Amino acid sequence: MELLDSRIVREFTARNGQSRLHAERASTRVPTGMSRALLRHAPFAAYTVQANGVYATDLDGNRRLDFHGNYAALIHGHAHPTILAATRAQLEKGTAYSTPAAQELALAEHLCGRVRSIERIVFNNSGTESVLMALRAARAYTGRHRIAKIEGGYHGFSDFVMVGGHDLPPAADKSARLDARPDTAGLPPAATSDVILLRYNDVEGCRQALRAHGDDLAAVIVEPMLGSAGVIPAEPEFLGLLRTETSRTGTMLICDEVISLRQAYGGLQSAYELTPDLTTMAKIIGGGFPMGAVGGRADVMSVFETPGARHVAHLGTFSANPVSLTAGLAALELLDESAITQLNALGARARAGISNVIREKSLPACVTGLGSMFQIHWTPGPVTEARHAEAAVPDLKLLAFLGLSNRGIQTSMRGMCSLSTPMTEAHIDALIDAFSATADDLRAEGWLDR
Ligand code: PLP
Repeated sequence: MELLDSRIVREFTARNGQSRLHAERASTRVPTGMSRALLRHAPFAAYTVQANGVYATDLDGNRRLDFHGNYAALIHGHAHPTILAATRAQLEKGTAYSTPAAQELALAEHLCGRVRSIERIVFNNSGTESVLMALRAARAYTGRHRIAKIEGGYHGFSDFVMVGGHDLPPAADKSARLDARPDTAGLPPAATSDVILLRYNDVEGCRQALRAHGDDLAAVIVEPMLGSAGVIPAEPEFLGLLRTETSRTGTMLICDEVISLRQAYGGLQSAYELTPDLTTMAKIIGGGFPMGAVGGRADVMSVFETPGARHVAHLGTFSANPVSLTAGLAALELLDESAITQLNALGARARAGISNVIREKSLPACVTGLGSMFQIHWTPGPVTEARHAEAAVPDLKLLAFLGLSNRGIQTSMRGMCSLSTPMTEAHIDALIDAFSATADDLRAEGWLDR
């Protein structure tokens, strides 16, 4: 059977007639019908019109329990009343100013108090911008220009990190592949030639690569949990090795906590007792509004202030805008230790429940994750690096995503899920039941026997 002939796809199409028409019309004006290419999938995407709490509603009136959470940004769900109240009050006071916003200091103090490695911080509008600026700061500080990133790691869409994300060699290929291939057209040659790749959780391979190239590297950028590439936790020795080797060569260790900051009060770096030189943040720190930040050691962050050859200007018309700052502070104040403990317990319940279904039904799948996040992979696993995650069967990935959507559950297309504080055990159990029923549909149509 062809993928698009599956009953699951036909049901999705039948349930989402208005979205299908909207997608056709939108694609005549907006390439692919949407500006966020990652949200595109076959046969077409459902367009959201409103969202509240844990639910989002699309153009056809379908209401879905949102485990996507705008790629882990919406840790308090949609339109949280406390964040809305703070934001409304700020909107009355203006949306962007001509001189620095006085609201900036409160969020700066909060994050410096929260994340131990951060002594100074600057704010911009996205994770992409925060990574761009962290890399530039590392180059200015070290006087070097090459960087190392993790295979499969996603750090936004700026030039030097849009490489080595896809088309990875099979995991069984033990040979070192340091060369970064472009993930997009339109990159300058330096975006590939100035970047080397490291394999996640590969302690020995990374040791060798950093011994060979470390003196030449301005920065190693790493997520303490590989997010978009599969919600894969780091082995403590792996992060320890990166810290030791980068310290030895004076290379900046950039901890990208754009996704993982939610996992522990002081960011996931605190759980690993990792002290990076710089940290990039976004998503939850904007309380649902656009926001990014780079923070780190005072001497490294001094490149943003000390005049001279090492100076890096941190700019942006809407950087550190008062609305995002206010919403972000409200969101972080709500996200105290007990909120995180509760969220992480729900995450453990979800991982256990999904693992049970996988075991009981002998599904060719596994679940990875940590804290309030997890991902269902349509490969038996274990999944400890991006190469493993890339081995997942694409048809099963798409059909499971659409099958869950038909049952009122929103995940990311890849199967990534993130939890939000308004969720309860009942919501988690609804996801587990929907996953179980979707697996039955896949079996009934013969997809699991291929
Ligand atoms: N870094 C990581 C680890 C991310 O997961 C993302 C986005 O998902 C980014 C950076 C880019 O953030 P943004 O989408 O806000 O530009």
